[in-house]
Amino acid sequence: MSHAGRPAVRSHGFVNPPVHRGSTVLYPSCEARRDLAQQRFEQVLTYGTAGGPTHHALEDVVAEIEGGSRCMIVGTGLAAVAVPLLAFLKAGDHCLMPDSVYGPARTLAEGLMRGWGVETTFYDPLVDEAATRALIRPNTKVVYTESPGSHSFEVQDIPAIARAAHAAGAKVLMDNTWGIHHFQPFRHGVDVSIQALTKYVVGHSDVLLGSVTVNDEADWVAVRTAGGAMGHYASPDDCWLALRGARTMPVRLKQQAANAMEVARWLEARPEVLRVLHPALPSHPQHALWRRDFSGACSLFGVVLRPGYTEAQVFAMIDGLKLFGIGASWGGYESLALPTTGFIRRTATAEDLGGPTFRLHIGLEDPADLIADLQAGLDTLPR
Ligand SMILES: *Cc1c(COP(=O)(O)O)cnc(C)c1O
Repeated sequence: MSHAGRPAVRSHGFVNPPVHRGSTVLYPSCEARRDLAQQRFEQVLTYGTAGGPTHHALEDVVAEIEGGSRCMIVGTGLAAVAVPLLAFLKAGDHCLMPDSVYGPARTLAEGLMRGWGVETTFYDPLVDEAATRALIRPNTKVVYTESPGSHSFEVQDIPAIARAAHAAGAKVLMDNTWGIHHFQPFRHGVDVSIQALTKYVVGHSDVLLGSVTVNDEADWVAVRTAGGAMGHYASPDDCWLALRGARTMPVRLKQQAANAMEVARWLEARPEVLRVLHPALPSHPQHALWRRDFSGACSLFGVVLRPGYTEAQVFAMIDGLKLFGIGASWGGYESLALPTTGFIRRTATAEDLGGPTFRLHIGLEDPADLIADLQAGLDTLPR
């Protein structure tokens, strides 16, 4: 992570590549312009929307993190969800999406995609190979995955799902945001890996960015064509900040993951807590699957309280926390808490996780301070 993406850009000896802003690219000649235009799927400089040196440096860094060959940077994580879905689906096609999918991806499938004649079936994220095969129709072109699932943290058997999808000629798309740096999508059968770089790559809660990474030239042409057709682009200043974030991401992740495990273990032992939804805890139902496929964890997990607490009690408990901001997104250096009851929408599996839920993102604060803060919060709840 310290050296990726640096040789590609002339920096006159400075450690970091500069920010290259630009719309117009000046060509030495008309002939040079014609020749460059023919290489539109390469990292050549033709026009701003095709990306500049700062984009290309970040593309190389993300492709290396993900273990893929090519990467496209887009303005948000949600744009990175939308681009490959629209690249691989057309009217009359069928898409499979896990019931635990990131909410806005469900909204896209149920709204625009449906309107364009693409039918989506939401499936139980815990399907095995045979169950996946049973869900696939002759017109299924995309099997979408996200592991672990948003808010409920089910770990999917990606290799099994990919075997069933590939046997039917469907593409496997994965939102790999939680697994950044710890899940190698292309070694597990994924064709297109989606990242919200907004999270740990940027790492400072101040930039939105997404990436779509592939490991096959035909997939690259499909993704780049769709992204280009829709005019997707990201600011080079934001790419520069993501490049800066990427340099320290492995050490931030390591520390935040350790802090999160300490907090998660402590929470698990509390009488107010029914379950902690963290794949790295041995109590997690898919812990063995996580252990098989992931080399580590990030610092985002869910907490299910014992049933019976009212919304007002849970809100007051979270409102009273001193070190946890109340907010969406995650992956920054600071801790966040977010009530998730009623947030989760399910159509194929049970919505109720057993009690009121909230999600914690653990930052770089001292875990002892975070635990003291949570202890004061939980102490406000009746036993
Ligand atoms: C945040 C998030 C996204 C979207 O990222 P944005 O940059 O906020 O659009 C996509 N998928 C998952 C799992 C996320 O948590």
